[in-house]
Amino acid sequence: MKIAVVGTGYVGLVTGAGFSDFGHDVTCVDIDPKRVETLRRGEVPFYEPGLHDLIKRNAGLDRLHFTTSTVDAVKGAEVVFIAVGTPSTEDGSADLSYVIEAAKQIGAALTGFTVIVTKSTVPVGTAAKITAAVGSVAKQPFAVASNPEFLKEGDAVNDFLRPPRVIVGAEDPQAIAVLRELYRGVLRTNDRIQVMDIASAELTKYAANAMLATRISFMNELARLCEVVGADIENVRKGIGSDPRIGNKFLFAGAGFGGSCFPKDLRALRHTAQSLDVPLHVVDAVERANERQKRLLGERVLAHFGGSLAGKRIAIWGLAFKPETDDIRESPALVLIEQLRGAGATIVGYDPAAMKNIEAAGTGIELVKDAYAAAAGADAVVLVTEWHELRDPDLERLKSSMRTHVLVDGRNVWPMADARAAGFTYYGIGRG
Ligand code: NAD
Repeated sequence: MKIAVVGTGYVGLVTGAGFSDFGHDVTCVDIDPKRVETLRRGEVPFYEPGLHDLIKRNAGLDRLHFTTSTVDAVKGAEVVFIAVGTPSTEDGSADLSYVIEAAKQIGAALTGFTVIVTKSTVPVGTAAKITAAVGSVAKQPFAVASNPEFLKEGDAVNDFLRPPRVIVGAEDPQAIAVLRELYRGVLRTNDRIQVMDIASAELTKYAANAMLATRISFMNELARLCEVVGADIENVRKGIGSDPRIGNKFLFAGAGFGGSCFPKDLRALRHTAQSLDVPLHVVDAVERANERQKRLLGERVLAHFGGSLAGKRIAIWGLAFKPETDDIRESPALVLIEQLRGAGATIVGYDPAAMKNIEAAGTGIELVKDAYAAAAGADAVVLVTEWHELRDPDLERLKSSMRTHVLVDGRNVWPMADARAAGFTYYGIGRG
């Protein structure tokens, strides 16, 4: 099948490369010429495990192409995916300008009946807006469908190639048939395709992110209670996670959630509900709890040093919003940096993949190429992102190189008892 994918970010590129791997002829289009140049050279513009090999293989087989021309990409395509960004606007609603612009460009480029599919996360009612935008310029018949994407950055290729389910929102029988056919290779049996009305498909994506975020905020609030009553959130987590009705995913207390999706999608969901006068009290509380949680690590460091960090050197291990990605959008590390800087600290950071993005964001912190170089001479090491290489620190090495021995474990992955036995002051989240 000939496919076009509009937008080559985390979602568009994984989608394009993924479908090409199943033998489809895919053209990815982006308005950013630098990005397209990078892709044509065989490089990936961001860090995502496994993606480089997937792109290299399929570009080499001449079934994955990159262009800046929507006209070229859409020409002859049976399916066109919209995978452009939907960032937050100031009032929290999703900014649909990229989606609508892309829809118009696609509409003007159609060469025959085409199924236009939204992969971007968009509020309920967007399919109708896309239909109107395409219809205002199209001279060819088309159908609009919703196919929200559930991949996780850091494991996106695996999620795309082996999805637990594929949600298709569509009313047009031809669109449903084309999407079933397209996903045949990915799913082999069709029983993991859920076809539903478009509004439900659009809402399912927001509901999924809101549910996952709710679990995280719930555990973060319980962690605070654990500290006061002398319980350990890690025991509580294991205790409830082994209940099959609850399951053990997304129950880790930590430094709060960030990233390009949860915060903005919660805001957009709340905005949709508010504008329709339907209160979502749980979602409000999840956001409030998270804003508070993102400040916890900084507060812990400040409290330890008596409120001022003048003359103190604080090392941050991990800057990306989660491991296995270079994405720093709304990372808790950014909040921590602001807090520490505000209190007069010198900050030195290390991350296996995100340092280029931290530098580009203009945080101005010192960046070093190795976790132990960051810790050298530091008064405290704060773990924000639990990359594998940061989970099991060499305590002896830290002991001999740090100036004062404070460890703030924002992910509860360091060995608390060992750290204390080695003479560190150890702070976790919701424990001891
Ligand atoms: P991104 O910001 O990384 O990439 C978007 C790309 O679209 C950019 O490269 C931009 O130049 C390009 N673009 C914008 N307008 C264009 C146009 N008219 N024509 C061609 N290209 C255009 O975005 P992302 O993280 O891939 O997210 C895309 C969408 O998918 C968002 O709605 C997001 O909420 C959703 N989503 C993201 C993830 C994730 O983990 N990142 C997961 C699921 C869903």
